[in-house]
Amino acid sequence: MSMPDLEDVLPRFAIIGAGPSGLCVARTFVRHGIPYDQFEADAALGGIWYHGAYATAHIISSRKISQFPEYPMPAGYPDFPSQQQVLDYLNAYAEHFALRDRITFNKKITLVQPLPGGSWNLLFESGEYRRYKGVVVCNGHHWDRRWPSYSGQFNGEIIHSKDYKSPEQLRGRRVLVIGGGNSACDIVSEAARVAADAHLSLRHGYWFMPKTALGKPIVELIGPYPLWLQRIVHRVVLAICVGDYRRYGLPLPNHRLFDRHPSVSTEALHYLKHGRIHPHPDVARYDGAEVEFVDGTRVGADLIVCATGYHVSYPFLAPGLAEVRGSVVRNYWGMISPQYRHLYLVGWGQPRSGFGNLLEPLAETLAQSIKTQDRMQFPLGAVLRRLRMPLPESHLADPFQLERGYRKARRLLPLLPRIERWLCSESDNAAPLPVLSPPVRSAEPMRVY
Ligand SMILES: Cc1cc2nc3c(=O)[nH]c(=O)nc-3n(C[C@H](O)[C@H](O)[C@H](O)COP(=O)(O)OP(=O)(O)OC[C@H]3O[C@@H](n4cnc5c(N)ncnc54)[C@H](O)[C@@H]3O)c2cc1C
Repeated sequence: MSMPDLEDVLPRFAIIGAGPSGLCVARTFVRHGIPYDQFEADAALGGIWYHGAYATAHIISSRKISQFPEYPMPAGYPDFPSQQQVLDYLNAYAEHFALRDRITFNKKITLVQPLPGGSWNLLFESGEYRRYKGVVVCNGHHWDRRWPSYSGQFNGEIIHSKDYKSPEQLRGRRVLVIGGGNSACDIVSEAARVAADAHLSLRHGYWFMPKTALGKPIVELIGPYPLWLQRIVHRVVLAICVGDYRRYGLPLPNHRLFDRHPSVSTEALHYLKHGRIHPHPDVARYDGAEVEFVDGTRVGADLIVCATGYHVSYPFLAPGLAEVRGSVVRNYWGMISPQYRHLYLVGWGQPRSGFGNLLEPLAETLAQSIKTQDRMQFPLGAVLRRLRMPLPESHLADPFQLERGYRKARRLLPLLPRIERWLCSESDNAAPLPVLSPPVRSAEPMRVY
């Protein structure tokens, strides 16, 4: 299929993905009157909650902080709704705000490429090209499996937690789960119920937290306090509810609380105490039907589940469009490209919160950024760079700090067109605003990485 003419730019945004992030962005665009088309690779909306999370998953963030404040979850939902309840809720959200008809399903984008004049070329799996004014990428960060690597050969089955769907995969088998995050806790607890044996291998100590304390979801115990105070509150709660991890056979955490994502699971701690989960250190090597750990102990296993996380990746972005360092996307306010006009990457961060209450202010800031960008000559990110705004250093974030950051950003946005004019008219314009010359249009799409 030939590429469209340069004049054929659709004066709209393309939103890639119809998970929670894409839906919230779409809803916010509707409210702001920003025209868009939305594309979803799957046959239905909901993202992880449609295709990814196992059937027995319940959110670890609570209903209160995971719902979109503008459209609360049904009052009858429990504190920790199930995968199906979250999916039903997202469908109801899309219905309520009439978002569904504007989503094209089974439409995967395979290339996003900047073109001269500042517009964007999108290539679909079907081979079709379209040109858009801008692109909002909401492709999620729980799909590009990160695998551990050990020497030796394992004769049983090895899967990633992404491919764990139901307890039937564990039933009656000797299961080893590698990893200490939330998925690992869920799966090894399920194995404790239905498997012949449930083993857990940890590379280092984690902060394991119960899901509730004082009858409330533990995630709701934090408030808009400084991090040190949040740490003290949680350390006290943990001392009372959990105590010393070594009494569960677990290593002590090797990092400060909240320096990494804590693992929220009452069940894992429960089954460790009941001897249904056997903790082990890191795997040293595979040896046929057995696994040897770094302390020299060995266990036999039929199934290994690698709950070892995901890479943040954008396989459809042409080279150079996004700088991803580990799990961190180096974009202003977590979404605005430092170089390109109207390229936004949403939803890669992992704040200690639920998706809803943070996506709303993020999407609002995005909509206001788009309107501001339309009044500016240079890419918004380039101006923010000249103002020496900091780029994110971590994918983990304090939700209250994030909200404050979005509020600050929205206060700054109306000033940016004037700041840009002022920067341009500076007499000693020694360091002019960087202008990116997009790659020259070629007959063939650029290499996808
Ligand atoms: C087991 C599990 C438990 C979790 N528990 C919680 C929790 O308790 N609380 C919480 O807030 N979060 C939780 N999460 C995190 C979860 O990622 C978020 O809740 C939320 O789904 C993120 O939304 P998203 O739209 O950014 O990404 P996703 O939900 O991953 O949606 C991305 C969408 O983009 C589509 N897409 C990707 N690439 C393309 C393409 N090239 N073209 C077209 N479409 C594309 C995908 O098909 C998908 O539908 C959990 C995740 C997992 C795996």
